[in-house]
Amino acid sequence: MNEALFWSRVDKNGPVSEHRPDLGPCWIWMGGLNDSGYGIFYIKRSPKRAHILAYRLLHGEIPDGLVLDHLCRVRRCVRHLEPVTQRVNTLRGVAPSALCALKTECPSGHKYTPENTYLDPKGARHCRVCKIAAHERWESRLDVEGQRKLSDYRKRYRQENRETLIAYLREYHRKKMESRRDQKSYA
Ligand SMILES: [Zn+2]
Ligand SMILES: [Zn+2]
Repeated sequence: MNEALFWSRVDKNGPVSEHRPDLGPCWIWMGGLNDSGYGIFYIKRSPKRAHILAYRLLHGEIPDGLVLDHLCRVRRCVRHLEPVTQRVNTLRGVAPSALCALKTECPSGHKYTPENTYLDPKGARHCRVCKIAAHERWESRLDVEGQRKLSDYRKRYRQENRETLIAYLREYHRKKMESRRDQKSYA
């Protein structure tokens, strides 16, 4: 890689991190950023994360199994990096997911019980009570045209997913009957 070109894109007189002023000025990446806000440097047309390249140039390879943590919490910084385990990195992060994982209630105060928790495909937790309430609010605001579209959509959905829905309902009733039987046998 072209090291001179790489360092020409770094401002070594960057601001001091509010999170860790003791570390001194950040070295701010002035080149392109990726969607997550990390600096990107192209090597043979392939995008590489600038902070990882900087760490390698200054300190050598990142030890196996470790990831680089930004001590200063400034993603564009290519200076204040420490190799840590993925777990430490997540817990240290100010990422909402790290904070949310510690919470036992949704923002409206409903408990995150297994029954009331919905995990989205990204693994984030959502409160079912709030989700249903939000949906009802949305539905109550629909105009006639919107209501017609929604009922059409539901009809189509039921037709297209008939098998799955029947299987789901059978399983639901089976479980219900089972738990009733259990309750009776305890009585
Ligand atoms: Zn920094
Ligand atoms: Zn809630």
